[in-house]
Formats: sequence, C-alpha cells, structure tokens
Amino acid sequence: MSRLSPFSLLLSSPSIWRFSWLAIAAVLGLSSCDRLSASDIYASLPPCADIVCDCSDFTNQAQAQTVLVAFEDDVYNLDGDRNGTACESLPAVAVGLDAPTYFSNSEHLTFGNPSNAGKDNPDNWLIERSQYVLSYSKSRNVLNWASWRVDNRWLGRTDRQDDFRPDGGLPKGFYQATPGEYRRSGYDRGHMVPSGDRTNTSQDNSATFLMTNILPQASENNRGPWKELEQYGRDLIYQDGKALYVIGGLYGDQGKVGRVTVPGRVWKVIVVLDDINAGISRDTAVIAVDMPNSDRIEADWQTYRTTVDRIEIATGYDLLSEVPADIQAAIESR
Ligand code: MN
Ligand code: MN
Repeated sequence: MSRLSPFSLLLSSPSIWRFSWLAIAAVLGLSSCDRLSASDIYASLPPCADIVCDCSDFTNQAQAQTVLVAFEDDVYNLDGDRNGTACESLPAVAVGLDAPTYFSNSEHLTFGNPSNAGKDNPDNWLIERSQYVLSYSKSRNVLNWASWRVDNRWLGRTDRQDDFRPDGGLPKGFYQATPGEYRRSGYDRGHMVPSGDRTNTSQDNSATFLMTNILPQASENNRGPWKELEQYGRDLIYQDGKALYVIGGLYGDQGKVGRVTVPGRVWKVIVVLDDINAGISRDTAVIAVDMPNSDRIEADWQTYRTTVDRIEIATGYDLLSEVPADIQAAIESR
C-alpha cells in the first residue's frame, strides 16, 4: 500500500499538519476502506498535537509513539535518535486508574473522582477540604488535579491572604513543598484553585495558599490565558448567575523547581451550570482547555480549547465519571 498524500489542515501553522493517513488508520485499528476526517484523527491524540508536542507533554511512551506515528517526518522531533521509538525515557505504558476505594460526599466531587484518588496510593493521594478536593503525588511533590465548585456562595469581598505555606496536613513521609523553593526559579507559584474563587471568608481564601494547591507555572501562562479563563469563569457567575464545577490539573514533566516537578501541560474543565440549583444535562456547556506550561503562549485562552475526551486521553483519567454515560458522551466530545 502506498502512503496517502500529506494533508494540510488549516490551523495556526499549516506547514506542520501533515498526516500519515495509513499510519493513523493503523493506530486506530481501521482498514483502508474507512474514511477518516482530520478531526477524527485529532480526537485520538493528546491536545499538544494541535500545536507542538515534546516529550515533556506526555505521561507515557505509548502516547508519544501515537503522536510520532500520526505525523510524517517526526515534525515534533520526538524521535531524536531516529530509531523509530519516541521519547524512550518515559514510562512504557499508561498506569491504569486505581480502583475506587473512597467515597466522598463533598460537593466538590459530585461529578466524580477523576483518578479514584484515595488513601492507598501515595501518588494519587486524596486531600479533601471544605474548600476543594485534590489528588496529590508524593513522588512528584505536586498535585495531579483539583476539583471545586464555585458559585456566588464562595464569592465575596475578602482580600487575597497571600499566606503561601507548606501543607502540614500531608501524611508522614511526604515532603512538604515550601514557598521559598520557587524563589529565583523563573516559575510562578501558580494556584490550581484560584485565590479569586474563594473570597467569601479569609479562612477559605487562605486554604488556596497551601502549597499542595500550588504548582510551578510559567508566568506568561499564569498571568496570561490561564488568568483570563479564571476571570471569564467568575464573570459567568457575577454577570449571568451561573454556577461552575471545575476540575483542573497538570501532567508531563519538564524538570524540577526544588523538589517539585514542573508539569509540561496544565488543563482545566469547567462545567457551566445554569444556576446555583441546576443539574447537568446533554445541553450543559463545558469549557475544556489544555495549555503548554510555557512562556511561549498565546494570550487568548480560546486558542487552547479542546475536548474533555482528549484530556482523558492525555491524563488517563475518567472525568465526570458520575455523570450518566449518555450525558458524558455528549458533553465530553464537543
Ligand atoms: Mn494563577
Ligand atoms: Mn468521562
């Protein structure tokens, strides 16, 4: 079989959008008779494939290999030694989700626990507070994801407390990251749950400054599209009376700040509920973004929109797992 001619997709930089169609078909287990659109192909790849991937953007080698195979000529230079294998230093395959062992009544986990975080796996350690819930990694010394509801009950006039501090609530044997370790690193102490989402009381605001809610975030990201999206979300509450259910996280590895792993990517899913009492339906709006943790970033967060499905591919999580399957299927693919 001969290779199909390269295809150029009209996105931001068309010159790199050259697919190897047969290779993609092989990855997807399709025969040459099946017709694939460009969007079908992208739907199977992690979000970095939209712009530029490098090895720090993947959680495992198999995933990097999928992207290597998808494009002709190794456009992202994932196979520097040209042996046909991408990103050999990564773990071979995705680690499966932990079994669910922990039940929570938290309003911040209503739509599911993305990685089945609990109290068994130190790298998927559940931290549950009244203000938010998160999964923390002992080996990376940084969170995996956080989940939180925000609506007008959580918003008020409390000032930013700015009391960054180690999280003394971590179990014995976990390293407690310190605010000082970010000094002169070039990275911001980026909040996952934003300070601005917890302005009802000083205690709730202060909880966002625990270092378990903080990640080394490129400042142009933190102060650019990431912040714009945070404000966009709050505007939906202030101006339109919406209520948000947010899951945000990070993956990939581009080195360390002190003992804290610097993620390659940061992502967020915002479920926009019609009002404070509204439930979720097939028509519920969902905003999903996945951005490089880089100073070379576009100001407009819309540039980084993707689907929940593709964030699930990149992270291995099952987001919104407590949402009925038909609703999940509808809202995760668009
Ligand atoms: Mn921030
Ligand atoms: Mn899901």
